[in-house]
Amino acid sequence: MAEIVLEARDLSKEFKGFTAVKGVNLQVRRGTIHALIGPNGAGKSTVFNLITRFLPPTRGRILYKGRDITRARPADVARMGLVRSFQISAVFPHLSVLENVRVALQRPLGTSFHFWKPEASLHGLHERARDLIDAVNLAAWADRAAVELPYGRKRALEIATTLALDPEVMLLDEPLAGMGHEDIGHTAALIRRVAAGRTVLMVEHNLSVVADLSDTITVLRRGEVLAEGPYDTVSRDPEVREAYMGA
Ligand code: ADP
Ligand code: MG
Repeated sequence: MAEIVLEARDLSKEFKGFTAVKGVNLQVRRGTIHALIGPNGAGKSTVFNLITRFLPPTRGRILYKGRDITRARPADVARMGLVRSFQISAVFPHLSVLENVRVALQRPLGTSFHFWKPEASLHGLHERARDLIDAVNLAAWADRAAVELPYGRKRALEIATTLALDPEVMLLDEPLAGMGHEDIGHTAALIRRVAAGRTVLMVEHNLSVVADLSDTITVLRRGEVLAEGPYDTVSRDPEVREAYMGA
């Protein structure tokens, strides 16, 4: 089995006496797509915010590539390759798709390579931007302003600007939220492509896409891990069916 790249140990979060996350243990293996699911209020967003350092835990530890990042700053964690989509990948509405990706590629958070060799690397930068735009199927939109993009394409641009930071582990918070059927299909295919050579941890409600994409699923209920494993195993668990699938 692949090594554990990201791990939560006995993670807990209390909000004024209310325990939203209780002793969660989570192990994400390198190269996998790992989904976090559960009913509303289960603690998915809180776990996600703890892992990405947007919230401090009340108890427990977070390890990334064996290093304790429990108290690391979000930007430092991102620099280490653990990148949350939409975190730092702000899209500038009046820049074109191509310009947005070029700006993301030149961000100091990624490698500082382009700052040191601006002339020599300009062509390479342009090529990389084009490659990323191709990767998310936005070639036909390259010269359009970001503000003109339909919703699903805008999310694809956000993924491209996140990819510009060359993440090892990409964290996606409900990547399909608010999408229609067609965009869901495109985005699911995009996530699968993005995951090649990377690790993806995502919170997602769309169970059929989760079933299709994920190697491992962790089910949360009332702040605790209820079940974990591949979809076939998890979906047969009677407690999961009762808590989540409503069957
Ligand atoms: P999910 O994302 O699975 O729907 P959340 O992590 O958003 O669940 O929330 C888990 C529980 O913690 C919920 O009962 C929610 O009301 C509570 N909660 C989340 N954030 C806060 C907060 N900032 N203050 C108080 N309670 C919170
Ligand atoms: Mg949530």
